[in-house]
Amino acid sequence: MILCGRPAQPSDFKDRVFEITMTVRALGEELDGEVGKSSPDPTRVQDLASQLSAAIEAESKFWQTYTGDFWNAQERKCGFCESRLIGAAPQLEHFYPKSSWDELQAQGIEWGTQRVRKRAQRRISPIGFWWLAFNWDNWLAACGVCNSRWKKCFFPVQGLAPGHTARLHSSYRPEPLLLNPFDGPDPETHLVYDDLGAIGPRPESPYGEVTIRTCGLHRPSLAKERKRIYLHAKHQAEIWIRALEQMNDLALSGSTQGLVDLCAPDAPYSGVARYVVYEVTGIPYSEFREIPRTFRSGGTP
Ligand SMILES: [Zn+2]
Repeated sequence: MILCGRPAQPSDFKDRVFEITMTVRALGEELDGEVGKSSPDPTRVQDLASQLSAAIEAESKFWQTYTGDFWNAQERKCGFCESRLIGAAPQLEHFYPKSSWDELQAQGIEWGTQRVRKRAQRRISPIGFWWLAFNWDNWLAACGVCNSRWKKCFFPVQGLAPGHTARLHSSYRPEPLLLNPFDGPDPETHLVYDDLGAIGPRPESPYGEVTIRTCGLHRPSLAKERKRIYLHAKHQAEIWIRALEQMNDLALSGSTQGLVDLCAPDAPYSGVARYVVYEVTGIPYSEFREIPRTFRSGGTP
């Protein structure tokens, strides 16, 4: 997982979203009124929540129109797992879930490459963050496996004790514990990898741990792909170190460019390569990517 730039919101988006969300907004405000009562009627809340969810889904074509904008901004990789898709279309993911809000109780295991088994959940709220359903800043593009099989309506946040329920109201916006490819914190500072392609959290990183569990980033099919990138990057990085020790400009130039290419935003699983570069050379990607410019200007890194 890497950080990337959110696509610019189209100039006509505000007008279009206003038109399209009239029904959703009216139902949402009614729901806000009911939830805000000292003793809300649970049947009425459930009924309004169902109507609201249906009204949101009825406008799904609207957000699907913009999937390509996000997919391109993410260099055509899933915002969570960095996979490229072959024979499948990306989906538009709502970071704050739109229809309900669930807590993960059992992580589950990958079944084949498309399914998950033994994943258990508990409902925090039958209402989702409906007021963010059509919010540009709440969208990203994800593969169907991350979005529909693993992340679903799970949304870990700060300060909500396990087992709690929440009364969702449109003035409520908890701080996520899930890493966001646009907003950060930077996944590079929260995730680690190894030579088997396994992923883990950096010590004491709750962001890393919950993002892995929530999006199923530990799944074996991803580990297999990441292992290939890890070993390739490690090999290049070792050549780089040797070339530096031997002052071999030619090998240094070649291995630098090789590593920069592996770490590039459009390279598959580039988060793994960036991790390897930092671990082996001690140089973060943000600085390492500037090295080829030094070669071009005739200096040494
Ligand atoms: Zn994915």
